[in-house]
Amino acid sequence: MSQIFSSGQSTSIDALREQWTSVMMSNYGTPSIRLVRGSGSRVWDDQGVDYIDLIAGIAVNALGHADPRITDSVTRQLSTLGHVSNLFATDPGLQLAARLIAITGWDDSARVFFCNSGAEANEAAFKMARLTGRTHMVVAQSGFHGRTMGALALTSQPAKQDPFRPLPGEVTAVPFGDEAALRAAVTQETAAILLEPVQGEGGVIPAPAGYLAAAREIADQSGALLILDEVQSGIGRTGTWFAHQHASLGPVVPDVITLAKGLGGGIPIGAVVAHGRAAALLGAGSHGSTFGGNPVSASAALAVLNAIDSDGLLERASFVHERFARELPARSSGVVRSVRGLGLLMAAELNDVPSATVDLALKQAGVLANAVSPDAIRMAPALNISDAEIDDALDRWEIACSALQNGESA
Ligand SMILES: *Cc1c(COP(=O)(O)O)cnc(C)c1O
Repeated sequence: MSQIFSSGQSTSIDALREQWTSVMMSNYGTPSIRLVRGSGSRVWDDQGVDYIDLIAGIAVNALGHADPRITDSVTRQLSTLGHVSNLFATDPGLQLAARLIAITGWDDSARVFFCNSGAEANEAAFKMARLTGRTHMVVAQSGFHGRTMGALALTSQPAKQDPFRPLPGEVTAVPFGDEAALRAAVTQETAAILLEPVQGEGGVIPAPAGYLAAAREIADQSGALLILDEVQSGIGRTGTWFAHQHASLGPVVPDVITLAKGLGGGIPIGAVVAHGRAAALLGAGSHGSTFGGNPVSASAALAVLNAIDSDGLLERASFVHERFARELPARSSGVVRSVRGLGLLMAAELNDVPSATVDLALKQAGVLANAVSPDAIRMAPALNISDAEIDDALDRWEIACSALQNGESA
């Protein structure tokens, strides 16, 4: 790895590896870059090298780094009233719940539960499903719903699940996008169908046209809930507030959605929004979270939602997608075949260079992205990435690809 970086950088990589491995558990790979500062869609490492950030904390930093609207609202809230727990009400939490309900477009049966992460949102949804009186869950293979035991039980990926069996049951996993398989798996005993509208960790794979509508119909016929995991795809990322509202995926009306990632713009927060009978499943004392919906996180989320509105970021997501889809393959020396995904949840499909090699070349050229699968690079930049930052990102992608084709790295 270090041979593609300059010698000064390789010394610092060795020092970082040494420091990291001496204090951190080994569950993550050892990072090769230590970041110290960020502004917009640009971050700087401890050597002063800048990178265009096309991964944004894994689809989290909806407004990029150090957006003054988030830093101001969080600073103001923290110096007015920070954490109080759910023994007490606070205005930011109440306002955020009302805003989330408003952007779903659901009726006044809709209700919100707040937590702190995507896994916790899916845990809550799992517990809601159990409270229907049924226990069987149907999920999609290669889906990702989080790492806690319940969320992991719903994450049908053998490598992630197998070391932790037995996991909470009864979960049936079916191939994503296969309507007939879904129909065959769901019975009158099924509590819920849980799907991502766009599989994110699974490689940025949008549900095929008609699949979510079929899931809705299958759920209705069996009395199961339809839960959509919008942890990665929600909050404007695909060009609509939620991916299930996107014309190419549905639109459909699920019973429950789970949210996290982009919601807080970098401050941890998760949420479950439900309507109809699903909204009444969690009764008094049935679930909770000490930090959930605290006013600091809620004020960050309100700043994100306000900015998406005021800056027209839903429309911009589609516009920026088009730029990458059109310009990236054309400028990639044949490395990138095409760009898939929706809005600003994208993957560059690679021709025959392994994604780890491309990821490394991108880092060297000053672009942060993610080798989401062996043949694809995920990009989930800030929703407000500027035209100049996009220009810079595409220039650097071009440099990385031509270096790869000239055998200058890897
Ligand atoms: C990231 C992710 C999760 C898990 O979120 P955490 O905050 O890491 O617990 C769940 N579902 C989807 C679709 C995700 O992308």
